[in-house]
Amino acid sequence: MMTVEKVLFRSVAEHAAALAAGEYTAVRLTRAYLERIQERNGEINAYLYVDGAGALAAAEESDVRRLRGECRGVLDGIPYALKDNFAAKGLPMTCGSKILGGYVSPYDATVVARLKASGAILLGKNNMDEFAMGSSGEYSAYGVTKNPYDRTRVVGGSSSGSAATVADGMAAFALGSDTGGSVRQPAAFCGVYGLKPTYGVLSRYGLASMASSLDCVGILARTAEDCGLLLDVLAGQDAHDATSVVYAPKSVQALDHVLRLGVISFDGVGGIDEEIKAASARAVERLTACGAVAETVELPLPDEALAAYTVLSSTEAASNLARYDGVRYGRRSARSETLSALYENSRGEGLGAEVKRRILFGTDMLVRGNREVYYLRALRVREAVRRQMEALSERYDVLISPAAPTAAFGLGSTPSPDALYCADMCTVYANLAGVPALSVPFGVNAAGLPLAVQLTARRCGENLLLAAARLLCDGEVK
Ligand code: GLN
Repeated sequence: MMTVEKVLFRSVAEHAAALAAGEYTAVRLTRAYLERIQERNGEINAYLYVDGAGALAAAEESDVRRLRGECRGVLDGIPYALKDNFAAKGLPMTCGSKILGGYVSPYDATVVARLKASGAILLGKNNMDEFAMGSSGEYSAYGVTKNPYDRTRVVGGSSSGSAATVADGMAAFALGSDTGGSVRQPAAFCGVYGLKPTYGVLSRYGLASMASSLDCVGILARTAEDCGLLLDVLAGQDAHDATSVVYAPKSVQALDHVLRLGVISFDGVGGIDEEIKAASARAVERLTACGAVAETVELPLPDEALAAYTVLSSTEAASNLARYDGVRYGRRSARSETLSALYENSRGEGLGAEVKRRILFGTDMLVRGNREVYYLRALRVREAVRRQMEALSERYDVLISPAAPTAAFGLGSTPSPDALYCADMCTVYANLAGVPALSVPFGVNAAGLPLAVQLTARRCGENLLLAAARLLCDGEVK
């Protein structure tokens, strides 16, 4: 007999099988997750809002469907959590910001609607760095999220609450957003899988924009298989998102040839801890022992890529966040004698320091003079990174690298915003190039903190990522 705790740490696929076998009902499972949240959330601060009544009502409906033989598939009755920058009809949506305090979404994001249609059960909304800007979970207006492995450490960000939720058994899976690593880096910090799909494969409709040309909906789950299941349900073109692409979802497949592995060398690039390099080296050994052929490849434009990401993400964010002005969106300041005072005070009071920093920086990058020197140059770097990543991913099935330069660091230990930006140095490539990438948990360090590696593939090569991840974890020889 399994303990309740163990059940909460089951994968989506395991839950689906247990629900189908009648081992437990969706109501029972939902209740167990709600109890776990009640027990743990005070300390971890992963959820900003829990919709207990809504979740239980949805679970009852799921059980009724199952009894009638009308089960909607593998996700029917499976409880999940949503980063608080996704719209879910009738639920609060703060994006981790004071400026959206009290805002209730009038509609469902496309991915939320698709999960609803497949019978998945929404438990609540997850804490996050304000407007998805951050790498530590410390930039939320609603308090930090703590790492379940060590509560004196950060859980990573910006999908901080979503990663902690999955890692701590407070939902079966979660959706986050990944603009420069916000799904993969926190996944790496707390030992769960984090998939950033190909740009456009998952609709962004209903996801609050940070940097629209980089933003992706991402999946946080306990296994690679679950990432594949969820991708199959969520992928597909959406009339509401002009950048969404046609994608023929392929479930996890076995590789039908020897895996060609490109090992991205971070030699000569500072800032990567030795234990992280050692974990990557072990992962390469494991894959070659399973028959993969590995070659070392150079990181495209190591000095320029992070800078280009910082410029482009900040310029786009500055423009996207103009809508939070106390008139169209956002809480209006009570001190608003004139129109410009209304804008100034609403934004001044409602937005946090990091968001202001990026708005100022991003706006400055676009003024005449800077536009040519920084913004246009960053676009050229992006194009060069995209071409080099594309060339690499044609030569190799999968590229392997660290997912983050360090394991989870201590709360409050980041010396400066610039130093925090470096936490994204391994992940921004996939966003700049629009290719899929997966953070795969890979052991723990001497302090018991999770380590991870990142796999990257060509556009729409998610099946390669998932197959390689399975090879890495199960040592399956195909
Ligand atoms: N941590 C990165 C940043 O702060 C990435 C953010 C994201 O992916 N949303 O820009």
